[in-house]
Amino acid sequence: MNHETTLSQRDVAAVWHPYSQLPIDGPPIAIVEGKGVYLYAEDGRSYIDAISSWWVNLHGHAHPYIAEQLYKQLHKLEHVIFAGFTHSPAIALAERLLSILPDNQRKIFYSDNGSTAVEIALKMCLQYWHNTGQCKKKIIALKDAYHGDTFGTMSVSARSNWTKPFENYLFEVIFLEVPNELSLKTIKEKLYAIRQEVACFIYEPLVQGSAGMKMYEASHLSELLCFCKELGILLIQDEVFTGFGRTGKLFAADYLHTQPDIMCLSKGLTGGTLPLGVTSCTEPIYHAFLSNDRTKTLFHGHSYTANPLACVAALASLDLLLKEETRLCIQRITTRHIDFARSIRGHRNVQTTRFLGTILAIEWRSDDVTNYFNPLRDQLYDYFLQKGILMRPLGNVIYLLPPYCIKDEELDYIYATIRLALEEVG
Ligand SMILES: *Cc1c(COP(=O)(O)O)cnc(C)c1O
Repeated sequence: MNHETTLSQRDVAAVWHPYSQLPIDGPPIAIVEGKGVYLYAEDGRSYIDAISSWWVNLHGHAHPYIAEQLYKQLHKLEHVIFAGFTHSPAIALAERLLSILPDNQRKIFYSDNGSTAVEIALKMCLQYWHNTGQCKKKIIALKDAYHGDTFGTMSVSARSNWTKPFENYLFEVIFLEVPNELSLKTIKEKLYAIRQEVACFIYEPLVQGSAGMKMYEASHLSELLCFCKELGILLIQDEVFTGFGRTGKLFAADYLHTQPDIMCLSKGLTGGTLPLGVTSCTEPIYHAFLSNDRTKTLFHGHSYTANPLACVAALASLDLLLKEETRLCIQRITTRHIDFARSIRGHRNVQTTRFLGTILAIEWRSDDVTNYFNPLRDQLYDYFLQKGILMRPLGNVIYLLPPYCIKDEELDYIYATIRLALEEVG
């Protein structure tokens, strides 16, 4: 290999990247090191990771405490089959999660990522009705939903350009309006009419991330969930994105009055260190699979189910997350986001702002439609990269969801750069 070849060049020759279009986007930036909120590239440039590396990082990159715990575990046990066997990190993490999840959650099922956590949740619901001998087949989701990139999760996600090539292979789902004062009545009527056939309702609580950080009220969601409960509809709360402090509370569930039957976790679960997914469920769900009849088994397992290293990373991340210090950081980011959002309200380029906890979204005013393919997206992405900030706008919506360890000076710099962009872009 020529010693002058850069990582970027070698990458282009051998690697295929997600959600990327090489002729438009150009070669990827090769990162050689991460520390706190900073990413260091091979060309010497550095970037503030303002989106926590696709919403996964909580405590900054290469956190020494997580690294140390992982190193110790690597010398003890790197992996073991999880059917018929178990290990201390998986047990400790399950206990730990159950102690902080809504108190009706009683069992933890492990997998590798957010999509698998959702696939498993859907299978749990459908097989719950199968195992209990009831014919409920309809699945309900929300308009503009995003639940992952596998076939099942694409099926329960909004139909879009992302899913178009596969449309004929996605199963049927009934999409409801997001609950608000106006839509609730109609939603309830629709649900009531089909109540006997509905297997489950899956939703992203409070924030629809991929849709552009669209937010809706906890009170309206609570009302809808309560209504579903009365109709016997199983609730799948997809907290893959909203979990672990993102929304200002530990889980979005902590804003709601009704507890879901099943919850999906991933992204922040390991603090952004290793892939891990969790599907938690209530005792009645778990119970419907317990039997002397083997056909009632949940036939789902991945090779790396409950990988001990990933579990240890999650335990270490939780140690950090549950510190008073981290809670105060989340509070500080929350307050600063609100102040900044107020300060730019009314700017000619600001269509609207949305914020909840550590999430701040700004919708850029645009003559084109507000969607993922809005041409402002590339301009904004490049603008912030030039200024040393990694943002990844969803169309004309820029959003900020930093690692919780971000310092005030770093937030100041990002806010100042957004102000500048408001003057110069669009
Ligand atoms: C990202 C995301 C997923 C999918 O998780 P992956 O780990 O990317 O497969 C599912 N649900 C929500 C709400 C997400 O934001």
